Amino acid sequence: MNELRADTISNSWTIISSDRQKRPNNFSLKKDHKSFTSCAFCEGNESHTPPENYAVRPNFSSANGPGWNIRVVPNKYPAVKIGSIVNKESGNEFFKAIPAVGNHEVIIDSPFHSIRWEHQSISHLSTILTVIQNRLSDQEKRNVDTFALVFKNEGEYAGASLEHPHMQCISLPVVPPVIERELLRARRYYHLKKRCIICDMIGFEKQNVSRMVCENPSYSVFCPYASRFAYELCIVPKTHNYSFLNTQPNDIINLADILVTVLNALNSILTHFHYNVIFKTVPLMLFEKTLLMHETGDAYHWHITIAPRISPLQGTDWGTGVYVNAQSPENSAKVLRKYIEKTTQ
Ligand SMILES: [Zn+2]
Ligand SMILES: [Zn+2]
Repeated sequence: MNELRADTISNSWTIISSDRQKRPNNFSLKKDHKSFTSCAFCEGNESHTPPENYAVRPNFSSANGPGWNIRVVPNKYPAVKIGSIVNKESGNEFFKAIPAVGNHEVIIDSPFHSIRWEHQSISHLSTILTVIQNRLSDQEKRNVDTFALVFKNEGEYAGASLEHPHMQCISLPVVPPVIERELLRARRYYHLKKRCIICDMIGFEKQNVSRMVCENPSYSVFCPYASRFAYELCIVPKTHNYSFLNTQPNDIINLADILVTVLNALNSILTHFHYNVIFKTVPLMLFEKTLLMHETGDAYHWHITIAPRISPLQGTDWGTGVYVNAQSPENSAKVLRKYIEKTTQ
């Protein structure tokens, strides 16, 4: 039976409609025949990007030349630009606006053009995760913006415009409504119960088992109750932690390990799928200075969402924010659990 489900964290709604799975070509993915002749992110083409902000160069090679493992450059076509907000708001009650100031960087995962996260070594993926911490910390030190988001678009269905594996880090002068809603919900729950909503939710998921996918000493992975996408995953630290910046080196290695496990499983089941990875962590310094920070730290729990993009968004998803998911999260979790159990035996 189809269900309309409310998401515990965001309070958004999803229609779980398993019948839609029967439609022809429901999960078909067209093959990517793109080739590249000149890629600005490949090693040797460093002059095609803006000068780098940061790089991992194991042999101390010169900036903006070859010899790097991971490279961070300003986005050539940024959604926001560095600056300060002089007059914060303009317009009237109908057409309110603030300048799109912020910082928009690209983290180039690797010098190699076609290597996806699931094919990286645990050691290299751990270094990528450490670079993400470095960039979030850098954004925080700039002490200008309110919120930063790190995300990965893998494949054109996920919104990637370039094939070369990369992530983006974007900081904004506002906390976006989706995150604000999650924070508000977490705080309300904390006020009521003096406990973290996500810690409690993981407890229920573990008892229930049906949506659990896998775990290691540091992380639990499950398909959210109101998953918006087939095979949507949530990776949550087992110990309460409000910020990815507080994640310690050993937990970084365990995170790389579990990312490779679940992405490999998804890639085998869905065959070279496109996906988004989103890091949801507590907002930056300006927000931390508010009186609410103390209880936000106790109430919020950082996590990663992986959203496979195996079919395009449709009118209901886009127009109402009520997503239609053709596969129940219980079924997605069962398939993934079976695959992971079989391959790790
Ligand atoms: Zn490339
Ligand atoms: Zn928690």
